[in-house]
Amino acid sequence: MNITIIGTGYVGLVSGAVFADWGHNVVCLDVDKKKVQNIKKGIMPIYEEGLEELVKRVQNIEKRFRVTTDYKKAVEHGKLIFICVGTPGNSQGAADLSYVFSASEAIGKYLKNEYKVIVTKSTVPVGTHNKVKEYILKGAGSKKVNFDVASNPEFLREGTSIYDANHTDRVVIGSDSKKALNLLERLYKHLNAPIVKTNLASAELIKYAANAFLATKISFINEMSQICERTGADVKDVALGMGLDNRIGPKFLNAGIGYGGSCFPKDVEALYRTSSEYFYDFRLLRGVMDANERQKIYFIEKVYKKFGTNLTGLTFGILGLAFKNGTDDIRKSVAIEIVKMLRGAGAVLNVYDPAALKNAKNALGVNGINYRLSSKSVFNKADAVFILTEWPEFAELNYAHLSKKMRKKIIFDGRNLLNPKEVISAGLDYYGIGRFLNF
Ligand code: NAD
Repeated sequence: MNITIIGTGYVGLVSGAVFADWGHNVVCLDVDKKKVQNIKKGIMPIYEEGLEELVKRVQNIEKRFRVTTDYKKAVEHGKLIFICVGTPGNSQGAADLSYVFSASEAIGKYLKNEYKVIVTKSTVPVGTHNKVKEYILKGAGSKKVNFDVASNPEFLREGTSIYDANHTDRVVIGSDSKKALNLLERLYKHLNAPIVKTNLASAELIKYAANAFLATKISFINEMSQICERTGADVKDVALGMGLDNRIGPKFLNAGIGYGGSCFPKDVEALYRTSSEYFYDFRLLRGVMDANERQKIYFIEKVYKKFGTNLTGLTFGILGLAFKNGTDDIRKSVAIEIVKMLRGAGAVLNVYDPAALKNAKNALGVNGINYRLSSKSVFNKADAVFILTEWPEFAELNYAHLSKKMRKKIIFDGRNLLNPKEVISAGLDYYGIGRFLNF
């Protein structure tokens, strides 16, 4: 099938490369000329395991993948046209749909009377499909056009997105048109996954419901970690005992410094906003967002309790800046927020991340921050080392050995990555989240 992708970010580029890998003819379009030039040269705009090899193969060897800035060519190409542009949160917490609408209008401008399906993969609030249709028609002007709209929300996880696209738990497709649903079903049929066919509003809501539920699970265990700290329980054991109940499951039950990233914070907020617009106060989500904010403060309070609120003269090592492991994405990263708080209180920071150093440097600058090229070097002369992203390699470090280079032997483990008993018996002070420490 001929497929067009609008927007070559995490979702668009990965989806385009994967569709080409499945044997389809794909044209990807982005308005960012530099990004497009780089992808043509095989330089990826994002760090995602396996993506560079996949794009190089489908683009240069198998020649089923092209990338362009030319809307006319892109729109003429695809039977299915996927909108994968960003929908960041705006200042009121709602989704900013301006990129989606400008893409829709541009698509309309080049549509002809040949049938196509315009599919929204971007996460958009319920009801957006009506506006997408309006903008397409606005772009088309007085021309006769022949299209349907559909919703196909994306569930891939950064860091494992190529695997996820090939092994999804489910595919969700929503449309009022049987023809559109059938075309999309054809695209995904070969995956061994249930296909949920529904109307447009349900498909749009499913994505928000899933993300808000996962964020709720995280905030729940984070709140439990506070109870654990106050009662002598260990949140890891509580999570284990809860998660073994197969009605609950073990995933998203890791207490830590809170959820971040380009999706959960904005999607929870946007769903809350949507509910308000429909005159419903979704109080549970308010609690989820509050708990997430409080969790960062509780963590910083542990630091203040140890060192006081003025951190001038102290040097801290920071392990991890990405919002989670496996990605270079720092959008709404809690690690970055904690770094800002520590720097704001006067500390000098030696920071390291296996993938996100460049993005972090762009966001944080060099004031008070030294960017290090290895995890081990952040221990030098540190008054404490902080684990802020759960990269597995940080769990493998020899803390007993590395602590010899530190000024004070203290670990703040914001992701509960380490075994406190081992760290303490190696001679370090350990501060985790909701852990039992009196062995
Ligand atoms: P992104 O910011 O990485 O990429 C968006 C791309 O769209 C950019 O390259 C930008 O230049 C391009 N763009 C903007 N306006 C355009 C236009 N008018 N025409 C063509 N291109 C345009 O975004 P992302 O992380 O890939 O997210 C895209 C959407 O998918 C969002 O709605 C997001 O919520 C959703 N989503 C993201 C993830 C994720 O893990 N990142 C997962 C599931 C769903």
